[in-house]
Parts: sequence; C-alpha cells; structure tokens
Amino acid sequence: MTQQQVTELLRTIVHPETGTDIVSSGMVERAEASSDKISITLAFPKGRDPFAASIKRQILEQITNRDPSLEGKITVIVKEAAPKKPSPAPEKKNAADQIKRVIAIASGKGGVGKSTVTANLAVALTRLGYKVGVLDADIYGPSQPQMFGVEGYMPPAVKEGEEELMIPAEAYGVEIMSIGFFIAPTDALIWRGPMATNALRQMIHQTRWGALDFLLIDLPPGTGDVHLTILQELKVNGAIIVSTPQQVALADVVRGIQMFRAPKIEIPILGIIENMAWFTPAELPENRYYLFGKGGAQALAAREGITLLGQIPIIQSVMEGSENGQPVASEDSLSSSYYLEAARETAQKSGL
Ligand code: ADP
Repeated sequence: MTQQQVTELLRTIVHPETGTDIVSSGMVERAEASSDKISITLAFPKGRDPFAASIKRQILEQITNRDPSLEGKITVIVKEAAPKKPSPAPEKKNAADQIKRVIAIASGKGGVGKSTVTANLAVALTRLGYKVGVLDADIYGPSQPQMFGVEGYMPPAVKEGEEELMIPAEAYGVEIMSIGFFIAPTDALIWRGPMATNALRQMIHQTRWGALDFLLIDLPPGTGDVHLTILQELKVNGAIIVSTPQQVALADVVRGIQMFRAPKIEIPILGIIENMAWFTPAELPENRYYLFGKGGAQALAAREGITLLGQIPIIQSVMEGSENGQPVASEDSLSSSYYLEAARETAQKSGL
C-alpha cells in the first residue's frame, strides 16, 4: 500500500466522540508505508481516550482487509498529544487577539459610580488617542447603553470565515458591547448562572472588536460567578477598583482586591479611582467639601500597595451626562479634566 492510500483509509475512520475523521482532527501524527511495513502513530488529546483501542482495531482490520499480506506488519502506536496550550485555547484567543490591554473595572458595591467611571474613562482614553472598547458585563444593571446613548441597539451579526461575529455599537469613538443589548432591564435580575455566563461568553468571543488598545470591562459589583467567568475566559491584564470615600473602608472593597490577587487569578491591580471624592459648589469654585470623609482612598492605596489613579468629585454634569447619553469626558471642561488625568495614569500604569 502507498502512503497516500493509508492516509485515505485513515480518513474514513471517524472518532465517535468528535464525529470527525482522525486525519482532519489531527490525531494522526505519523503514517508511513513501505512495501512490507506500515507504521502509524496516533496522538489523542486525552491521555486515556476510551476510543483509542477500537480505533486502533479498525485501522488494523481495514488495512488487512485491503491487503492481507500486511497482517502482522502493521504497527499502531497510541500516545497522548502534547498539550497545545493550557485551558480552552482556541476560544480564549480570538477576543483578546487584537486587544493590547484588557482592564476589568470593579467595585465592592453598586451605586459607587463604577459604570460612570468606565464610560468616561473610555472616552478620555479615546481623546488621548487610544482605540477603546467597553464590554458591559454588569448583568444586574447594564448601564453602558444609556451612558453612551445607544439604547435599543441590536448588534448585527456578520459572518467571518467560519464564525458569526457581532458588531459592537459605536459612540464617541468608543466601541460598546453590552449585555443590555440582549435583555430587557426588567429581566436582568433573573439572569443568573449558566444563562448569564453563556451570554457573556458569546459577547467575549464573538464581538468584532477589531484592533483595540484598551478593552474596559464594566463588571457587576462585588465578587461572584460572573467575575470568575470573565477572568477565566479573557486574558485580563489589569484591574481598576472604583470606590467612594464611604465605601473605601469597607470589607467589600478589600474582598474585590483579594479576588484579583487570589492564586491562579493573579491579575495586577492598576489602581483605585476614588469617585465622589468631594463636592464643590458652583458659587464657591475654590472650596472642596469632603462630604464623605477625606483621605480614605489614599490610606487604602498605601495599605494595599496600590496606586491612586484618580479622584473624581461629585459633579452635577457627570450625572446629567450619564442620563443623557453624553459622557462628560467628551467635553472640554474642568469636569472632563479629572477623567483625562485618570486616563493618563491608567495608560501609564498599563505601559501604553
Ligand atoms: P455603579 O455602576 O457603581 O452602580 P453608576 O455609575 O451607575 O454606579 O452611578 C450611580 C449614580 O451616581 C448615577 O446616577 C451616576 O450618574 C451618579 N454618579 C456617578 N459618579 C458621579 C459623580 N462623580 N458626580 C455625580 N454623580 C455621579
């Protein structure tokens, strides 16, 4: 038998679990044929593939059926394929492929301004010349569509090669993909467990981001399943913690920090952004009123050995901007300067 005939024959043998023939699925590492000898090496991804023995038997049978004189002259070696990459490699790749830095934005509790910071930081980074995307994974209250004024956007799907990819929304130069595009706000609370995780997975792997410098992920508050899913599915390069002065001393913030530092997760914390740090009345622009206390974020940063990336005061236009779909950071004003400063620090800490 010729080598080609052997390969053709191997192509007719299908692995029952994958439903694909063993040649196409890369299980045939070597197949050599000479006039009186055939040696084949099969490499299975699983160490003890339960179908290995039956596949080997089929190969022996089919070759000897075709050419009985080869009986006893066929060697089939079965071994375990060298692991290609740890974890589910092919999936993990595509989303992060063309993204230089994936940054998770977290908070201990809801309502501290995490989403507002995410949106404005994204716009500020864009103004500094970076290409930025926002992945809104806050399944309990996806607010990025409103922040960017793209509510009701339905991501169109395009086929690219074998894959169906979704096109993100775009506003203020930022690409936006939100779990809110797929669920009615009233349904968000019942989205738990596998349903939410699957939807997130799809958003992570099937969004056509293109080349990005930064992908900012608006995480749900606290620590939980969704966080773990994201941290496992995507290669996250760094985390930012958002906190208000009152929250900063609370255990939730520390738990958030610990989540990123946990063994096997080990995501560097780029720093903390203190939101609602002080209030300045319009008629007294020089005055800062530290309504919720002062110095807490600095103290936490020092204690945990992290950087204070920025402080954002309470500003009415920040809230209005979020409600109207016009992030304040897109304007030229004192308000936007706080976000630009935090963006510069973020870029610097990320090495971009
Ligand atoms: P989270 O994502 O942490 O739940 P949000 O970003 O939704 O919090 O913010 C909660 C509320 O606080 C929103 O109404 C938002 O407009 C408002 N807000 C956030 N940051 C500021 C700020 N610096 N000044 C004034 N209002 C703010």
